[in-house]
Amino acid sequence: MQNTTKRAKKKTRAAPKVTQVPVPPHNARRVIIPRPDVLHTYLEYNQINQYLEYIVHKYSNFVKLYTLGLTHERREVRALEINWNNPDNVELSSVMRLQAAKMADVYRSTGAKGPLVLPGDKNRNIIFIEAGTHAREWITVSTCLNCIYQLTERYTRNIEVLRNLRFIIVPLVNPDGYEYSRTKNRNWRKNRRPQKSTKIVGADCNRNYDIFWECGPVRTNRNTYKGERPFSEPETRAMRNILDSLAPNLLFFLSLHSYGQSIMYPWGYCREAPYHWRELHTLAATGRAAIKTYNGREYRTGSISCLTKRTIAGSVVDYVYGVLKAPLALVMELPSRELGFQPPVEMISQIGHESWFGIREMCKSAFDLRQSIKRDEEPVAPRPPAAHNTSGTGDTNASHTSDIKKKPLKKKNRKRSKRSLLTQHAEILELQQRHMEAAKMPQRSLTAPMRTRRGQGDGPS
Ligand SMILES: [Zn+2]
Repeated sequence: MQNTTKRAKKKTRAAPKVTQVPVPPHNARRVIIPRPDVLHTYLEYNQINQYLEYIVHKYSNFVKLYTLGLTHERREVRALEINWNNPDNVELSSVMRLQAAKMADVYRSTGAKGPLVLPGDKNRNIIFIEAGTHAREWITVSTCLNCIYQLTERYTRNIEVLRNLRFIIVPLVNPDGYEYSRTKNRNWRKNRRPQKSTKIVGADCNRNYDIFWECGPVRTNRNTYKGERPFSEPETRAMRNILDSLAPNLLFFLSLHSYGQSIMYPWGYCREAPYHWRELHTLAATGRAAIKTYNGREYRTGSISCLTKRTIAGSVVDYVYGVLKAPLALVMELPSRELGFQPPVEMISQIGHESWFGIREMCKSAFDLRQSIKRDEEPVAPRPPAAHNTSGTGDTNASHTSDIKKKPLKKKNRKRSKRSLLTQHAEILELQQRHMEAAKMPQRSLTAPMRTRRGQGDGPS
């Protein structure tokens, strides 16, 4: 189903391998790394790295840090691996540690340096979460860091998912674009690599994957420009490095975006439903229900093409689901139209906590669904719509055929949904206020260091 004509098999385009970021030995670990306030501020790139390093130092018995590649401006794209069933984890029984060590040895003997990849369906237990592909969607980065916070600093609360699942988390896929958005142009979406043919900077990393890439937008000045060829961008190559190698163990891939307040499943490139849409829908509905229970916020669920009213080719979620055949893959668009891409800082922890609550329930659901999905037994996936189905290289005048909007919603519906979202916000803010008053929580500076005792508004999760 995938367009393999230009698939990057040339050695010249091979990106450097995934490498582990070294951690100082135990006796040198007294070095104190300050902990950035990850829950109440939008961190800059350096602070995000500092937080990842803080986590990997403090929880080195079950956390590892990897560099996946370098961007155009030489920033690192990094992934954190959170693996409870690790031979270094002193909280495991000695039998389990021995078992884990054996498996790790077998894998390392192959010379591989990235996260463990193990044979057999029983090892299909990786939850992969990524965010910050679109530079201006700051809240996705904060929410992704909240997932890391929950799985490490709050690991006892989340031990059930940690025992059964392994997490790979990339909190910032597009650091160049993110820094540009923070310092120069808040509304920047693409990466920062200049396109060779023009002076225009940037491609949309979520149109650059090799899944019907040829159908994507070709105009370089567009916000959704697909890039010069599949994987032409260093950020997507960095992601491919780790995704392709982990493919046999992927269980559930989650791509965080904002601000549609929706949980969506493939396909993006066509309007047909995937063969296993019921499982995908169950998973999305689990997340929706959990968040509604948490604080009343109502997410929408459905396929990407259905909810966004357009077809989107070359996205990471279609790539992971369509090419790598991960059993489950979703896009979660965080709240919301009213709050924009960068909600006020007071909302960071609220959105982070409610999202984690939904994500955690989806992880459990993914674990339960894993037996009922056999991706290798399903029929061939549909082709993109006829108008998009050009077998050329994509540099023809196909721009008008992609990312086409369907008829816009009727005005009446739009007004109604906007009003209901505003009501939800009001209610959530009121709830937050009541919680803070109940806990007699002092209003504190947004940059104050995090205190770990209870009653700091960290929610019940
Ligand atoms: Zn986005």
